[in-house]
Parts: sequence; C-alpha cells; structure tokens
Amino acid sequence: MTFRNKLTTDSSRILVFGDTERCESDIIPVLKNIGYAVHHADASGQIDLSGFEKDPPDLLLFELKAEAFAQDLDRSARIREQIDCPVIFFCDAGQAAEIPSEKMSIPQGYLEIPLSEKQARQMLDMTLYAARLKKNCRIAENARQEAASHYRLLADNLEDVIFKLDMDLNYTYVSPSIKRMRGYAPEEVIGRSFREMATPDSVKRAEAVVAEEMALTKSGAADPHRIHSIEAEVYRKDGSTIWAEAKFSFIRDENNQPIGVIGVNRDITERKQIVSRLMESEEKFRTLAEACPFAIMIYQNDFWVYVNPAAEAISGYPADELYQMRFWEIVHPDYQSLVRNRGSKRQSGQNAPPAYDFKIIHKSGREVWVSLSGSSLMYQGQPAGLITVIDITERKLAEEALRKSEEKYRAVLENIEDGYYEVDLAGNFNFFNDFVCRISGRRPDEIMGMNYREYTDAQNAKRLFHTFHQVYKSGIPSKAFDLEIIPKAGNKRNVEISASLIKNEADEPVGFRGIIRDITERKETEAHQARLEAQLQQAQKMEAIGTLAGGIAHDFNNILQAINGYTQLLLMQKTPDDPDYSKLTQLKNSGERAANLVEQLLTFSRKMEGQRRHVSLNQEIQVVEKLLKQTTPKMIERRTDLDESLWPVYADPVHIEQILLNLGSNAADAMPEGGTLSFETRNIILEENPDEVPGAAPGPYVRLTVSDTGCGMDAGTVQQIFDPFFTTKEVGKGTGLGLASVYGIVKSHGGHILCDSRVNQGTTFKIYLPAASEPVPEPETEQKSAMPEGGAETLLIVDDELPVREAATEILHYFGYQILCAENAEQAIDMYRENLNQVSLVILDLSMPGMGGNQCLRELLTLNPNAKVIISSGYAANGLAKEALASGARGFIGKPYQAADIARKVRAVLDEQADLDS
Ligand code: ADP
Ligand code: MG
Repeated sequence: MTFRNKLTTDSSRILVFGDTERCESDIIPVLKNIGYAVHHADASGQIDLSGFEKDPPDLLLFELKAEAFAQDLDRSARIREQIDCPVIFFCDAGQAAEIPSEKMSIPQGYLEIPLSEKQARQMLDMTLYAARLKKNCRIAENARQEAASHYRLLADNLEDVIFKLDMDLNYTYVSPSIKRMRGYAPEEVIGRSFREMATPDSVKRAEAVVAEEMALTKSGAADPHRIHSIEAEVYRKDGSTIWAEAKFSFIRDENNQPIGVIGVNRDITERKQIVSRLMESEEKFRTLAEACPFAIMIYQNDFWVYVNPAAEAISGYPADELYQMRFWEIVHPDYQSLVRNRGSKRQSGQNAPPAYDFKIIHKSGREVWVSLSGSSLMYQGQPAGLITVIDITERKLAEEALRKSEEKYRAVLENIEDGYYEVDLAGNFNFFNDFVCRISGRRPDEIMGMNYREYTDAQNAKRLFHTFHQVYKSGIPSKAFDLEIIPKAGNKRNVEISASLIKNEADEPVGFRGIIRDITERKETEAHQARLEAQLQQAQKMEAIGTLAGGIAHDFNNILQAINGYTQLLLMQKTPDDPDYSKLTQLKNSGERAANLVEQLLTFSRKMEGQRRHVSLNQEIQVVEKLLKQTTPKMIERRTDLDESLWPVYADPVHIEQILLNLGSNAADAMPEGGTLSFETRNIILEENPDEVPGAAPGPYVRLTVSDTGCGMDAGTVQQIFDPFFTTKEVGKGTGLGLASVYGIVKSHGGHILCDSRVNQGTTFKIYLPAASEPVPEPETEQKSAMPEGGAETLLIVDDELPVREAATEILHYFGYQILCAENAEQAIDMYRENLNQVSLVILDLSMPGMGGNQCLRELLTLNPNAKVIISSGYAANGLAKEALASGARGFIGKPYQAADIARKVRAVLDEQADLDS
C-alpha cells in the first residue's frame, strides 16, 4: 500500500476500452478494487474521446481480440495520437498466443484475462510511475529549453556586452551585443587579446587589477565574491574608441585559483561626456562666479549658503563669516525689514520685486549703497534665494551730487523773479520755470509746446522772430526789448527777452534759451514817476505864479482900497440927483469889479483864508444847483449823485460855492449844443501813495466829481488850465482866472484836483478835500442889517499906506467915530500908551515895515491885556492872521474892505467888549 501510495494517487484515472460485458464482469471490478477511478468506453461503437483530449486519463486499458488485433492496434495507435497517455493491452488468456507478443508488448506490455489483481496492480502502477517520470522529464526539458532561449535573448539583445577572458586577457567569450557596441562580430573578438583591443592606459589598469588579484590570492586574502570595476577606453572596429565600464569577477577552479574573468561591459561614453561637460561647465561657472565683479550670493533657510569673492569684497566679510550670518544681517537698519521681507518671500519661491537699491553696512562700519537683483531657485533640492549685488555707492554719490546740483539749479530757477525758457528752433517751448507760468497766466501743460506766436500779437511776434533770427545767424546772444506778451487773462505784460543759441553735441543749433524779465511794473513806475515829476513841475509853476500874482494883487489891493474908499466916501456925500452921482457910481462899480478880480487872484495865490467851518459839500451843491438852473441853458441836463452819508469838510462855504460855480459855468461853456452836467460826491479813503491821486497824503477824503459831455480838451490845453489868465475864450468872455482860483482854493484846503479830458469826449474834474471829523453844524442864518450902526468911540488905525489910512479914517469918521492914525507899529504903540483910556479899538495892518503887525499886537496887549484889536490885511496870509487871532486879536477884516463891512465889524467888536465889561 505504501508503495502504491507513493507512486500513484487514489484518483489515477484509468480508461478501459473494450467489450462492455467482459469489462464490467472481469476488469472494472478488479481495478476499482485496487482503488483506481475507472471509465469505460465500449469498443463496439465509435469511441467518443471528446473531453479526454483536454483532460486525458492517466492510463488506457485497451482490449485486443485475436480475430481483429491488427485493426485494434491501429485503433489504439489513433487513440494515442489523440490522447497522450500510456496504453496497456489486455486480451483473453486463451487468445494471447494468437497475437504476436511483440505487438502486444509495445508500448507497455499486456495483461491476460482473467485479471490477477496483483499482476494488474504491479503493471499499472509501474506504467503510471514511468509515465509520470517521463512527464516530469519533459517538463524539465521544456524549462531548460526556455531558459536557454531566454538567455540567448538576453545575451543577444543586451546593450551591455558579456565577456570572458582567460588569465592572459584573451577573450574566450563575448556576447553578440558587442556588434552594437563596438562593431565587431563576436567571432572576430574571441581569441584576441584585450591588450590589443584597448588603449595602453586602460590595458595597464586592467593588468593592475589582475596583478592585485593574483597577489591577494597568493596571500590567501582574495575575496571570491568581489566584483571589480574599471573604466577602460576600448577600440571599436572603425578605430575610434569608446569608454566602457567593466564590472567583473574572477572565475576560479576547485583550488580557488583564478582561471579567468567574467564580466559585463557597458558603454559609458555618453555618461563620461556628460560628466566631463558638466565638469567643464562647472569649472566655467565657478570661474565666472569667482571672477565676477558682482556679488553672487545664495541663501537658504535665512543663511548664506554660497557667496563669491566679490560678495566678500563688497561686504568686507570673509565667506566663512558670511555663512554664519542671516542674509539680512549685513543690511542697513533702515532697509532691514524691507530686504528681509522680500528675501524671505523669494526664498520660499514667491514673487518679490526683482531689483531694488538699498544700503548695507560694510564690516568696517561704513555704509555701502548696493543694487540688488534677485530670484528664487532650487539649490541642492531645496528652494533658495539667489541674488546678485553691485556696489553703487559711487553712482549714488554722483546721483546725490547731481540731485543736489539739480535741486540748487531748480531752486534758482524757481526763485528768480525772472522767467527762464528754452524753445526749439521753431520757437516752441520745451523747458521753462514757474515764473513763465505766472507771467503768462498759463499752466505748465498749456505752455509746453506753445509757440511764441500764440502769446504775442503779430507785431511783437515779428520783433521776437527778428531777435531769434539774428541770434541764429550770428550766434551772438541778443535781447528783445520792451515786448508785449498776452497772458491768458488780464492785461498785457511788458517784457524783455534775452536769447542765446542752444547747440547739440555736434555743435548744431537746436533751439534758444534765455531770460524773460517782466518790466511792466518798471514801466509803470517810470510812467508814474514821470507823472509825479510833471505834477511837481506843475505845482512849482503854480507856486511861482501864485507868489507873483499874490504880490501884485496885494499891492493892487491897497491901491484899490484907497480908490474904492474915497469913491464910497464921495458917493455918501452926494444925493442921487447930484450930477456926479452916476459917474461916482460907475467908478464905484468898476472899483468893485477890480477888487473882485484882485480877490480871485488872491484866492488863487492862497492869500485868502476865508471863514472856515464844517461844511457839507452836498448842501453847497444843492445851493449852486439852484443858481445854475437859472443861469445855464435849458438843453443842458443836470444830474446829481450825492453820497447821503458824506463826511463834512472844513472849508469856507463861499469858496466851495466858488469852486462849484466855476466848474459848472466852464462845463456849460463847453456844451453850447447841450449835454449833461453831473455832480457826484463820495467818501474816499486814500492809502499810502494812492494811484488814484498821486502825491496825496493818506486818509479820509470827500471826492467831488464834476463832469460834462462837452467839447473836452487836448492834452496841451489840460496842462495850462490852472494857469491864471489862461483862457481859450474870446476877449471879454473869459478871464482865465476861474480854474486858477479853484486850484488855489483846493490847495489852500489841503486838497487835490485832477482833470481828465479828451477832445469831444467831455471833461471830468475830480476834487479831493480832506474830510473833517466834526459834524456839520446847522447853517446859521446871518442877519445883516442894511446899514451898520456907528459909534462915538475913539479908534486907532495902524497902516503903513497912507491911502488906506485915509480911506479908513473917512469911512469910520462917517460912522461917527473919533480916529487916530499911526503909520507904523512903533508910532502905534506910543500913541496907544498915551491915549490908553481914549482908544477903544485898534485896526491893525499886519504887513508893515519895521516891527510888523504881530509884534505890535503883542506890545499893545502888554499895555492893556483887554485891548481890542481888529487885524486888517490884504493877505489872508495863513500864518500871520491866524497867529494874530491866536495871540489875542478880536477880529479880522480883509482889504480892500467895504465901508459897511468895516463899520459892522468895528461895532461888533466894540459891543463884544461892552458885553465882556458888563
Ligand atoms: P475861463 O473860463 O475864463 O476861460 P478858466 O480858468 O475857468 O478860465 O478856464 C480856463 C480854460 O480852461 C478855459 O478857457 C477852457 O479852455 C478850459 N476849460 C475849463 N473847463 C473846461 C471844460 N469843462 N471843458 C472844456 N474846456 C474847459
Ligand atoms: Mg471859467
């Protein structure tokens, strides 16, 4: 059982092929009894082998019959062709002799029926065992063949070459891949020596390995498993060489003696080339980096990991010190956070500005300006930052110097009160300073590119062109004087423009540059000064004429005083029916006219003080208005435009009326065909040096404007209108004293008068009178009695001129007074002292030779502090009369005086005294 079990399995499948009856009775039971799995196929019909081909039985029992054994053998052979399994015949013991035994024994032998179990089991188990062995052999053979073909496949197709050498370095085998590697067929190599197939260097290297191995072997230290590796330069069939790497080990005999070499060759030419190229390029790059004047630096995880010599030079730190430092540590504190920030980003592969400038601190402590350009990269498999840095300290210093000088230059340009410009050859602005903007009233963008013709009129453009052209032709700088330019808004400006050539590097003219100077103000000042000068001349002229006229008028006045005095005296003694009465009346009228003229002259020469008080110009205008209404023609329209809150002026209302009447009548004369005459009043405050009224002191003024729409005057006429006796009117019509006296009055009131006139365009007079601070008192209603009262008191008349003394004596005598006369001050004082009790009043002339009136007045007052003195003078001489009144005189009367006026004055002063006495 043990044996069976060892060789067969219980499931060994037997296919029995034979007569069904026989099989079932004699065969199958025996086989089953042994333990086989039995299938039966009836031999009488067609055998169905389907199913067995794929899964063949382990053994076939085939029945042979003596009567048809040849047929049966045939059949069995066909079955065997289909099913691969051993066959054992069986036949009747009786028939076995009839079948040739050799036929039956092939292939395995036969069994006789009846079947002995033992015999059957022996034969079947043997056959099954043999079949199994055969099968295993076949499998082994197949495996061997497969391995061999795999090996061939490998050896034939390997890139590498497998080789064997004997110890003398002769090839004993090479794989076919040598053809690909070196162009040789294997048989061309086998048998040849390695020595002739490699460069001498490589041969030496191989020999050295062999020698070493031999030595090791000898000393017993050889390692049989050691794999050697050398690189050898070997020849190709075409004579060229390749680099091959050989990995090999020694083949040994049973005594462990090396008897040959087996190994693999690999073509490493390309790798060698790559490596050498790599080395070459590395060398190149190292040289580049080392020789590079830029610092090249790599940092990783915040620390420097590579710096080139330039980096050491720029930072002052040797490389090994830098490698201990974080990359921002050499940066100037002002820039540290910036650089650190950007650097960290770059280091982590993010974007950061690729280039910027900052400062570092050199190891020596000095500041160095650097320009950085950075990027990120992979360095030794990790992200890192790469920067190149150059020292730009010098550039920065130069830039700084340039910036400073530019700043200075700009500051100069922006602060000079002159325009600086540059234009191209066509005259288009391409550079200019602020002043050019200011003077032209344009924005820089409006000026840029602007042509000179756009800011000048045709005439000025022509002059400018001429200047530029001149400069272009001669190359000599030039100037255009007194040009007018038109600003964007406002009045034209007067400028002076200098121009010189701008040349390029090739010395070709490319434009002009120069200075624009605003001379508008200067021109205005000059004009203003000219006006002032003219005014001064006018004032001086008026002063001179005034002195002259005043002098004549004064003397004339005294003469008239006598003439008129006597005339009046004579008339008083006549009744109207007297034959001389009308002649004397005419004489009186002429005398009065003459006195009137003289008075005007005196007014002009400001020798008339008048009676000043607070006056409303508006009120005076209204009074004169009424008068003019009656005297001016109907076709002249009159207008008034009065400031209701007009300040008062301190003036003589008679004088004011005189001004208004003179201006009004002149205007009427200028408008024979009609027109408009207007009066306007305004309060005006004049500043220091007012443009409106040159030369006027600052302060509050009342301005009176009298204008007409008449014939007007030319400039020459305007110049002379204030001259006394200047008239354009026919003889007898004009005296030429109207405006002269207006002038005198205005001046004596501290005022100013201006005339603006154009031919056929009317005339405007403007009068400025200083405003008075006190309010205007209500106008007093003066009651003048027709005939003044006389008296019996004794009067002392002091005058150096006899006619005046005589006339006064006569008049006052007529009014009942007792008269004493003195012809100078000294005499007057003596007489007064002698007649202290009789003399009630003194009429005192101021301008006398000798001591003079004022001194005399003081002496009289010393003699009698209550002395009553009336000053009489041809001059309303500012000083004298005022002084006299201030030092105690009781009144003033102008010469020549009307009889009634002097009588009234005398009475008033005497009565005043009486009042005081009482
Ligand atoms: P008269 O009126 O006697 O001529 P004035 O001194 O008043 O003397 O004037 C002098 C001259 O000034 C006048 O003759 C006249 O030529 C000129 N004039 C004065 N006022 C005017 C005016 N409103 N329009 C035109 N010319 C004038
Ligand atoms: Mg006049």
